[in-house]
Amino acid sequence: MAKNTQEAQSQGHPQGRTGGTVAHRAELVIIGTEMLLGEIVDTNAARIAQRLAELGIYVHFKTTVGDNWTRMAAALSQALTRADIVITSGGLGPTQDDLTREVVAAVLGLPLVEDPIAREHVEGWFRRNNRPMPASNRKQALIPQGAVIIPNPKGTAPGIIARRGHQAVICLPGVPYELETMMDETVIPYLKRHYVTNGSLHSRVLKFFGIGESLLAERLDDLLALENPTVATYTGRVEVRVRITARARDEAEALALVAPVEEEIRRRAGDYLYGYDQDTLETVAGQALRAAGWTLALAESCTGGLIASRIVNVPGSSEYFLGSVVAYSNDAKVSLLGVPPDVLATHGAVSAPVAEAMAVGAMRRVGATLGVSVTGIAGPGGGTPEKPVGLVYIGLARGDWTEVHRLQLGGDRERIRWHTSQAALDLIRRHAQAVSG
Ligand code: ATP
Ligand code: MG
Repeated sequence: MAKNTQEAQSQGHPQGRTGGTVAHRAELVIIGTEMLLGEIVDTNAARIAQRLAELGIYVHFKTTVGDNWTRMAAALSQALTRADIVITSGGLGPTQDDLTREVVAAVLGLPLVEDPIAREHVEGWFRRNNRPMPASNRKQALIPQGAVIIPNPKGTAPGIIARRGHQAVICLPGVPYELETMMDETVIPYLKRHYVTNGSLHSRVLKFFGIGESLLAERLDDLLALENPTVATYTGRVEVRVRITARARDEAEALALVAPVEEEIRRRAGDYLYGYDQDTLETVAGQALRAAGWTLALAESCTGGLIASRIVNVPGSSEYFLGSVVAYSNDAKVSLLGVPPDVLATHGAVSAPVAEAMAVGAMRRVGATLGVSVTGIAGPGGGTPEKPVGLVYIGLARGDWTEVHRLQLGGDRERIRWHTSQAALDLIRRHAQAVSG
């Protein structure tokens, strides 16, 4: 222990010089027995790590530990032997098993003291919510001596930033929306002030649909070996992302490093590129529809409203989205969309002619410029040798024009339905962009 601590201190600060800028090492200690029991999945670490990566601070280790004093102290002590920044999640509540404050104070060798600002924070939360404050919440006003508090606008537990030399221990509550707000409002600005002073880091994410990660990586092979900017591929949920990250003295210089590489990637794989950074297929499809001045109606069978739900998640979608007919049974396809019964009888519900009739039906009955339909076999049952699980048809209709796409998708029911929604949104985007220019 003592040796490790000494080691960490002798390595000092700053660490890991690359291209004249400083790369700091972070470590996460995720606290909560629920995660070790498999009752909940840790999503906080991913959120924190993404935000840190955007600052050029990389997470080297993540430990998940239960609400146990000894093991929490061990995890935190070890983190402090090798990281500049240690961020904890959870254990800031008022109950017996919320031990983070006590453990941090003990590991740093500091007494716990009541902080007047923290106390006002906790009491103020109860006042504003017209609730009496239980005595146990007093504990949430305790912080290691010399630490500063992180305001928590969404909950009772203030966070804590405690320093030891160049190191910072940052404690956040476990509740994800509280943690995210506090990261954005206080922790990120704090880290920018104290740990990202030398140089600027700029990232751009390119998003692709319709090409697999390995195929894309092959096309970008030599670019993936670049050092500044770096280029890396990631898989999303049935899509692929490429992150270009440049380090430079200032933002303009970083941008100038990113631009030519981005251009080259677009040249090699632009046919599958659908958007950038915060874009999703539903936001991009919506922008394309708006630019074309079109309205959209859907006819959904195997996705059961999933595509509509994704579209209406985008604020302002009422400008172009009119509605979706969820027509699951054959009867509903006939009565709600006007699919001819003989077409259903001859070809079956999962077929190109039915997809086409559904798209036309949605377009006409809802009165939209563009009608888009999906019909498929999401499984696990219902497949046949001719029509296996994962067979999906997507129909498009606009005026007298129609087009049907046949897909054979892999994965379980959930993945097939998600993939279908991705494919439909991408077709909407491509079609609206191609026609409106
Ligand atoms: P509180 O003040 O609400 O007690 P806390 O800081 O003590 O907050 P926890 O009790 O550990 O935090 O967690 C509160 C809730 O937040 C948990 O019930 C869980 O649903 C959620 N949560 C905790 N940690 C995580 C995590 N790492 N990822 C996702 N959700 C989490
Ligand atoms: Mg708790």
